[in-house]
Amino acid sequence: MMATMQQIIVLANQKGGVGKTTTAINLAASLAAMEKRVLVVDCDPQANASSGLGIASDTGKGSIYEALFSPERITDAIYPSQLDYLDVVPSTPDLVGAELELVDRIGREFYLREALQNIGQGYEYILLDCPPSLGLVTVNALCAANALLVPLQCEYYALEGIAHLMRTYELVRKRLNPGLDFLGVVLTMFDRRNRLSTQVRNEVRNYFAGKAFETIIPRNVRLSEAPSYGKPALCYDHRSKGTQAYLALASELTRRYADAEKQNTEPVSA
Ligand code: ADP
Ligand code: MG
Repeated sequence: MMATMQQIIVLANQKGGVGKTTTAINLAASLAAMEKRVLVVDCDPQANASSGLGIASDTGKGSIYEALFSPERITDAIYPSQLDYLDVVPSTPDLVGAELELVDRIGREFYLREALQNIGQGYEYILLDCPPSLGLVTVNALCAANALLVPLQCEYYALEGIAHLMRTYELVRKRLNPGLDFLGVVLTMFDRRNRLSTQVRNEVRNYFAGKAFETIIPRNVRLSEAPSYGKPALCYDHRSKGTQAYLALASELTRRYADAEKQNTEPVSA
């Protein structure tokens, strides 16, 4: 039997509040519901993905911060979530210091990659939730991943800053991590009643052509309520539109990977 490749997906956008963390939590939960083994690695000192998945920040067992500087200790920092197939490496506010601590080190872009190498192949998907900046921690996440997923909020300035993000992606790919593919963009907080949302959707689909996911995440209050209960939306209100949208996104994503794998294997078997 052919082993499936481990997908390490980085969710990045230097803008805050665009839905990176909400997407990391709920895409991960949806993949877990499909019985894919998933690990969320919280790379943001604000630790919203950790708390949103019910992990307290002071559990004392370790976090991504310790794992960056003692990569072999990352396995101590893996916590179970409420979902059988979903685990979490949480973050803490200490991570703010990592940017400065890394800056003088040789190979400073590869600390997270080295830590993740100690996790082994037990997870089919590893999702890296980034802080709202293109600083060293985000660059570490870009260097540790093999696919970039960009959440974009359906608002007037949605595409602002995207050129800068895509330039960073190209530079990382050229100089640091040639194995990083562009997975695509996912539109979040879409409001059907708002003409602007539709306009932004069309603009983004033009700009990114086939790289925009068909699935669009609607603005849905359940998605914003669930984190305060430390739960992904599907454990909080599984019938909500938000839950359903992320389940659809997870199937679209796994379908894309399955198609890509098929294409890659066909020439071999011919
Ligand atoms: P980021 O991680 O990019 O900073 P978040 O995922 O934390 O963004 O989202 C910013 C805020 O918007 C949060 O309060 C979150 O609960 C809310 N939010 C995100 N996506 C949605 C959505 N689809 N519908 C309603 N609220 C959302
Ligand atoms: Mg966030």
